Amino acid sequence: MSRSHLLLGTAGALALLLPAAARAASPTSALQQQQLPNLVEIYKTLHAHPGLSHHEEGAAAIVAEELRKAGYEVTEHVGVYPDGSRAFGVVGLLKNGPGPTLLIRADMDALPIVEETGLPYASRVMTKSPTTGLEVGVMHACGHDIHTTVLIGVARSLAAAKARWHGTLMLVGQPSEETVDGARAMLADHLYERFGRPDMIIGLHDTNGLAAGTTAIAIGPAQAGTTSVDITIRGIGGHGAMPEMGRDPIVLAAQYVTQIQTIVSREQDPLDPAVITVGSIHGGSKRNIIPDEVKLQLTTRYFSDHSRQVILSGLRNMAAGLALSAGLPPERAPIVTVNEAESAPPTYNDPKLATRVRAALATSLGADKVFTSEKVMPSEDVGVFGLEGHQIPLAYYSLGAMDAEALARARTAGHELPGPHNSHFAPVPELTVATGVKSMTDVALTLLGKP
Ligand SMILES: [Zn+2]
Ligand SMILES: [Zn+2]
Repeated sequence: MSRSHLLLGTAGALALLLPAAARAASPTSALQQQQLPNLVEIYKTLHAHPGLSHHEEGAAAIVAEELRKAGYEVTEHVGVYPDGSRAFGVVGLLKNGPGPTLLIRADMDALPIVEETGLPYASRVMTKSPTTGLEVGVMHACGHDIHTTVLIGVARSLAAAKARWHGTLMLVGQPSEETVDGARAMLADHLYERFGRPDMIIGLHDTNGLAAGTTAIAIGPAQAGTTSVDITIRGIGGHGAMPEMGRDPIVLAAQYVTQIQTIVSREQDPLDPAVITVGSIHGGSKRNIIPDEVKLQLTTRYFSDHSRQVILSGLRNMAAGLALSAGLPPERAPIVTVNEAESAPPTYNDPKLATRVRAALATSLGADKVFTSEKVMPSEDVGVFGLEGHQIPLAYYSLGAMDAEALARARTAGHELPGPHNSHFAPVPELTVATGVKSMTDVALTLLGKP
């Protein structure tokens, strides 16, 4: 029996009533069970008080306070953005003798979405969108509140299980994942120079594709790289009744949006997946006014530098061609701005580390609860922590967040339950948090386990 059991009082005593196999599978589960109600409460607080990227002060303060209480050496406001503003990154260190350093990362930011889950702890927060200036809702629609809660639970479990591991834990509460500039901001603030360079990195993301209680991990490429692109299509404005006097940028934008669909279908290698999505288009103010310009915001996804180049040069070439075909003077040609600050490399799961993590997950949860996943097009900036060329091995896995029966019913009816970035995305808190804490604690114990 581990020391943590001896310290647990009634919850520990209850654990003794569990079948021997259950106890053997997870010596820390009694502590985790005891803490689950408090963790779920933290989750609901985080969920009801989300902060957009660059505005995670609420979550960051909770993470800092909880890690400090758990005995970690905590530093706040780690991170600096290219414009010089501070980020809300949190680093918690727990040194436990010589051994490897393991970075465990959780992202903390929310999305500009009006929540429609109808849950009692749903967010009612509204704010002004930093990109469009319009009033938007704020919602943890990507479940980063689950990740943050899991990090806190893992921090407690591993602090209580110090006798079973050695090395250094570096827990990172990362800001601004949704704008993919948070990890880079932390590195720019000398994360590794100040706190040490990790030997391994792990993290997780919740998913609507799996039932709570289960996980999945990809070996090798896991998630696409991404680059954000902003395009201003300029025309010559005027009276809506006399289009021949100007050049209508709304019609040009419509042509452009349609034409760029051929980059992936005609210019990209069909065996190397890529995506271009125009997620925002704004132009004009009134029915009978031809505006001067239309603004587009795009996201691009790819798995190689070559694909990224195909996409970016396609966007530029077609923009140049658009101006030419409309007879616009060069100074009114579209402006294509590649937002390097809002880009992230593909997430690559180091095959050796990911295989170890998969085995640890199977031991922790049972082999039937662990799936091997294929690569997907959503992106992450967790790979930034691995440095250029995957210098530090990373393993990032998916955490099931749906009620198993609801998921089965939905699939029988031929659809999926609402997932990340959807206003109805609603993880089931208890089992998702419990599985996240248990699995990640056991993975960390495997990676930092005493020989
Ligand atoms: Zn997201
Ligand atoms: Zn996310």
